[in-house]
Amino acid sequence: MKILVLNAGSSSLKFQLFVLPDLTVIATGLIEQIGAEYSSVHLVFSNAAGAEQSIQKRRPVAEHGQAIAIMSELLTESGTMTNVQELAGIGHRVVHGGESFHAPCLIVDGVIEAIEELIPLAPLHNPANLTGIRVALEHAPAVPQVAVFDTAFHQSIPEHGYLYALPYALYEHHKVRRYGFHGTSHGYVAQRAAEHLETPLAGLNIISLHLGNGASAAAIQGGQCIDTSMGLTPLEGLIMGTRSGDLDPAILFFLARETGMTVDELDEMLNKQSGLKGICGENDMRTITELAGRGDHQAGLALTMFCYRLKKYIGAYSAALGGVDCIVFTGGIGENSARVRMLSCQGLDRLGIRIDPRKNNGSPQGTILEIQSADSLVKVLVVQTDEELEIATQTLQVIQQL
Ligand code: AMP
Repeated sequence: MKILVLNAGSSSLKFQLFVLPDLTVIATGLIEQIGAEYSSVHLVFSNAAGAEQSIQKRRPVAEHGQAIAIMSELLTESGTMTNVQELAGIGHRVVHGGESFHAPCLIVDGVIEAIEELIPLAPLHNPANLTGIRVALEHAPAVPQVAVFDTAFHQSIPEHGYLYALPYALYEHHKVRRYGFHGTSHGYVAQRAAEHLETPLAGLNIISLHLGNGASAAAIQGGQCIDTSMGLTPLEGLIMGTRSGDLDPAILFFLARETGMTVDELDEMLNKQSGLKGICGENDMRTITELAGRGDHQAGLALTMFCYRLKKYIGAYSAALGGVDCIVFTGGIGENSARVRMLSCQGLDRLGIRIDPRKNNGSPQGTILEIQSADSLVKVLVVQTDEELEIATQTLQVIQQL
C-alpha cells in the first residue's frame, strides 16, 4: 500500500508517493503555472530496478482538477501507481489550522467547513489547499484523507507567548494572535535531532531555525513548542527572501501619511519587496553570498542583517527556554550555507554556543551534520528537513487509528 502527499498551492501542485511499511519515496512531482497557457509538469521516480528516472512535459493545465488527473496519468505512466485502490491514505498540507486544529485530522464532515472558516487568516493558501482536498476527494472518495496543518505544532505555545499586547477584544472577536508556521518542519527536525543525540525529545531544549525563502525560528521545550517567530501571518520574525520580518508597526502609519501608500501597497511592499531583496535587490542567498564575497556592500549588509536578526532570536529563545541544549539549522539556507550558520552563532560563546569551522564546512553523514566545537556546551546540528515525509508519517498515524 502507498501514501500520497499533496501540497496544492495557488498555481502549483506538489506531490510525493511513499510505499509502506517504511515510507520509501518512489515518486516526486511538481506541476507549476497551473492556469497559464502552458504549465510545466515534472516527475522524478524510481523504476522497478530502483534507478531514478524522470518525465518532463510542457502542456496546458487549466485548473487543479486537471492537475490531479495529470498527476494520476504520470504515476501510471511511470509504473509507480496503477490505481487509487493502492492508496492507504492521502495527506494534504494545509497552511492554516487556526485554533481549531492542534493535530493532523481525518477529513470528515465539518473539516472542510472549518478550514474554510480560516480563509481570512490565510487568504492565499487555505483556498488552494482546499481545492486540492476537494479534487482529491472527487478522484478517490474511498481513500481516507488527512489534513496536516503548518500551524498545529505551535498550538502548544502558552497564552503569554501567543498573545499580542493589543486590546484583548481583538483576540476574542477576530482571533488576532501568534499562530506560527513551518510547524511540520520544526517538529520533524526536532525529532530527528533527538534521535541523533540519542536523548528523548522530552529532555531537550531545542532552538529550531528553518531558513528557506521563508524563515522562522521555534523554541521547543521537551518536544512542545513554546514560542515561534512567525505570527498571525508568515511575515513576522526573521528577515526573509522578500519579507521584512519584525519592524516597528508605526512605520506603516508613517508611510501611509507621508507617501499616501495604500494598505495593499504596504502589504505588497512588506511581503514581496522587503527582506534580503529590499536591502540588496536579490532574494537568493547563493547570489547574495557570492556578491558579498566580491565586495558588494549592499549584499554584504543584507547577509549581516539576516544573521544578526537570527542571532537575536537565538539569544531570546535561549532565555525563553532557560538554556538551550541544541540548535538545529534547516531549510535551503540553513542546510547549505556554512557562512550563515557561522555568522549567526559568532560571539555566542558565553551562551555556550561555539561552532567548529572545519565541521561547519564538512559534508553531512546521511541527513545530519554536527558542527559544534568540542568545548561547546550546546550541540549545533544541520538537519535536512523533509516536510512531505513528515506529512506522510502523520497521515499514516491518523489512518492507523481508524
Ligand atoms: P527553500 O525555501 O528551503 O527551498 O530555500 C531557498 C533558499 O535556500 C534560497 O535563498 C537559496 O538561495 C538558499 N540556498 C540553497 N542552496 C544554497 C547554498 N548552497 N548556499 C546558500 N544558500 C542556499
